[in-house]
Amino acid sequence: MQKTRSYLMLLALLALVCACSKNDGAGGVASDVAPATIATNQEFEKNLKLDDPQDFEDAKRGFIAKPSGKILAADGSVLTDFDAFNFVQGKAPATVNPSLWRHAILNAQIGLFKVADGIYQLRGFDIANMTLIEGKTGWIVVDTLTAKESAAAALSFARKQLGDHPVSAMIFTHSHADHFGGALGVISADEAAKRGIPIIAPVGFMDEATSENVLVGTAMARRSEYQFGRNLERSPKGMVDTGLGKGVVYGGLGILPPTKQISEVNEDMTVDGVHFIFHNVPGAEAPAELTFNLPEMKAYGGAENLAQTMHNLLPIRGAKARDSLRWSEYMQQALDDNADTEVYFGQHNWPIWGHERIKQFITMHRDVYKYTHDQAVRLMNQGYTPREIADMIKLPKSLDTYFGARGYYGDLRHNLKEVYQFYLGAYDGNPANLNPLPPQESAKRYLELMGGAQKATTAAQAAYDKGDYRWAAELLNQVVFGQPDYHPAQELLARTYEQMGYAAESATWRNSYLTAAQELRNGPPKKGISRAAAIEMMAQTPVERFLEAMAASLNGPAAEGKDLTINLVLSDTKESYVLWIENAVLHFRKAAPVTDANATLTMTKGLFIKTLAGAGSVKDTLMSDDLKVDGSRIDLVRFFSLLDKAPGNFAIVTR
Ligand SMILES: [Zn+2]
Repeated sequence: MQKTRSYLMLLALLALVCACSKNDGAGGVASDVAPATIATNQEFEKNLKLDDPQDFEDAKRGFIAKPSGKILAADGSVLTDFDAFNFVQGKAPATVNPSLWRHAILNAQIGLFKVADGIYQLRGFDIANMTLIEGKTGWIVVDTLTAKESAAAALSFARKQLGDHPVSAMIFTHSHADHFGGALGVISADEAAKRGIPIIAPVGFMDEATSENVLVGTAMARRSEYQFGRNLERSPKGMVDTGLGKGVVYGGLGILPPTKQISEVNEDMTVDGVHFIFHNVPGAEAPAELTFNLPEMKAYGGAENLAQTMHNLLPIRGAKARDSLRWSEYMQQALDDNADTEVYFGQHNWPIWGHERIKQFITMHRDVYKYTHDQAVRLMNQGYTPREIADMIKLPKSLDTYFGARGYYGDLRHNLKEVYQFYLGAYDGNPANLNPLPPQESAKRYLELMGGAQKATTAAQAAYDKGDYRWAAELLNQVVFGQPDYHPAQELLARTYEQMGYAAESATWRNSYLTAAQELRNGPPKKGISRAAAIEMMAQTPVERFLEAMAASLNGPAAEGKDLTINLVLSDTKESYVLWIENAVLHFRKAAPVTDANATLTMTKGLFIKTLAGAGSVKDTLMSDDLKVDGSRIDLVRFFSLLDKAPGNFAIVTR
């Protein structure tokens, strides 16, 4: 009995980095568009040539067939509904920025497309594209989408249209999950090994891919719900796009280790009879990334350093700040590499044909990132701070009117702040911000000074009526934080965010504002995003990454004065680690079990991962022969009770 109880507690505590099942997606009563929002959106219509037909021709060019219906998960839940965005057509509704609407229509051109002789793309099966290149014996698959289910659906759709060709090679352009997560939907690990399929990726790919989401994955996943509008209804008052494509498919995530790594600036390689020149371009859009030329086809695969939008220097879900200068340098390199290229295709959005237009496309991206970088630095050196810089800089007209680099995914203002953060950090140098009160504490005091919640909300209403939404949001945020039970402020803030969302040109900003509004009305989701779906990828993640995450979940104050040592033995991989707490810090090292440990926990790596991912039932685990405890069970439970659990559904806009 004691054993069972200890195990139960242990399992509950082990599930520290994960949370549970699907979101709840509660709807809210979204407000109607306000006159000031209409006026803002009309400016976009006036100032941009939204009816320029070129992009529409490109997005439709080479169309072969469009999928319909749904992609389902094994449990029958809907992962993708191909018809969900059928409403995205015609004139922009008043609740969507017309420039974003135009972009959303372009991304709604989904299906199988012929890009050039021997090059096909599947768009709209996931947020990214799958590219198929005809080799001598089969298809060279470039990127495998986010999920096993979406990748399998894309490939089978292509086979139905183009014939039942085998996969002869795989290329992962970079270490972001939307480009490799569906690998096992394309080919099983066994088949890939048996047939000796070359799997090509940039150097560092495996480390970056498997570690990116472990340590701060919970916070990032939660914040990504804002960025991608995961819980929003697909509707004119909800989610219409992400900028890079339609929704991310939250299905089974896996990975295949590369057999060939690209580490040179120019690397010639013949892959299934096709001549590639690969370029290693790390540390810009992703920590590990490659692009490639197909010289005989005069084609350029730009991976994600290029897309039909300004990219993020720092996604609003949170990430390490990216190097805009290096990004711009890669664009110059790309210009040099593509002197006679006739077709560009990326792993998001649609391709571009014609040498001059490709040159213009790359040039615009080069200069948008460099202008952003240089102008932010110029103002930094004059003493301006992030919020000031973000308001001061506009792009020159030549860059600003180029649709292919407008801020549909990234946003200039956020990118300018990123440049500041990249070089100088989040602190603006003003000691008023060196040790300010926490937001809720200062909100309470401001509220008192403003004469209470009602008065502040009245002032915010006046700002709202004038279309001064930024000020209204700032005031109302103080009320919501300072007096969380004052509902009129929550409702007005929800309406304010909705107007900001309706007017936002960036899809990620729109999604964030509208998600915030939804959560002000309904609260945060009941559950965080499950990690169980990523179990096939986690199996490839080095144990050290999980132990780092475990250490970073140690409750410091609770661990003060504790002195515990635990041996962790993974019986199947023959790895063993010694974990110990010292100075309220959890350390680990790979070593043979020590004799003076408080306890020794022996389990298979599979069970260890399964437990971390929260997959499988507690009962199965308990009955499993894969787990054994020696030494003091009480100490083991004491050890695990010091680890905090992060359910991943924390409040962001409410308190
Ligand atoms: Zn991507």
